Amino acid sequence: MHAVGIVAAAGSGLRLGADRPKALVPLGGRPLVAWSVAALLDGGVAEVVVAVPAAERDEFAAALPAGVVLVEGGATRTASVRAALAAVPGEATAVLVHDAARPLTPPAVVSRVLAALVAGAPAVVPVLPVVDTTVAVDDAGIVTGAPDRGSLRRVQTPQGFSRAALDAAYDRLPVGQELTDDAAVVRAAGIPVGTVPGDERSAKVTVAHDLALAELMVGAAAPEPAAGTVLR
Ligand code: C5P
Repeated sequence: MHAVGIVAAAGSGLRLGADRPKALVPLGGRPLVAWSVAALLDGGVAEVVVAVPAAERDEFAAALPAGVVLVEGGATRTASVRAALAAVPGEATAVLVHDAARPLTPPAVVSRVLAALVAGAPAVVPVLPVVDTTVAVDDAGIVTGAPDRGSLRRVQTPQGFSRAALDAAYDRLPVGQELTDDAAVVRAAGIPVGTVPGDERSAKVTVAHDLALAELMVGAAAPEPAAGTVLR
């Protein structure tokens, strides 16, 4: 299997309140995108294509190792991934799509996704259980339902796909249609999506609080509890 990583890094960082694209915001002195690319490479991906905002291309090039391919992102995440997919080399047989905004994804998560693809899954996503009761509300904020949280999962990235499945799914998706992740694009094409365990450290940096937590994680050398340890 020849696996290529795509990193969606063309977002604005508005919700983070940053003065630059979110992917260039430093964490432990290194831009978020540099962490995310390193996680993919450390986890076993052979090469990486990054979708970046056109205006900051030079800053991204300076932040990333030589050999990482940069493409101009689009107005939405879906458009950015579509642009990066077009630049994935022909020999790739698998594609892992990752958010630049998940800097602390352990390489072991990447390895789990790759292993599921090697085992034959056409599509696989890392997931975590939902620990809060989760409700639906109407426009007035009134609770209208509470799905059984036992069957709910939080979906992370990197999401892994056979190259053929991801290409076929993006070919079918009407240009301009926006979905929040790539598994949704693949599911819309009728392709089943499997799951592997995600990791809390792979949380997405969206608001300033998330960045503060990530800085604490980078600064703290404390050992992590063993996987599956329930904290009470
Ligand atoms: O906005 P959100 O945090 O959900 O974005 C997830 C990822 O998608 C981020 O890493 C962001 O840089 C990327 N993105 C993109 N192109 C866009 C919007 C978001 O690559 N137009």
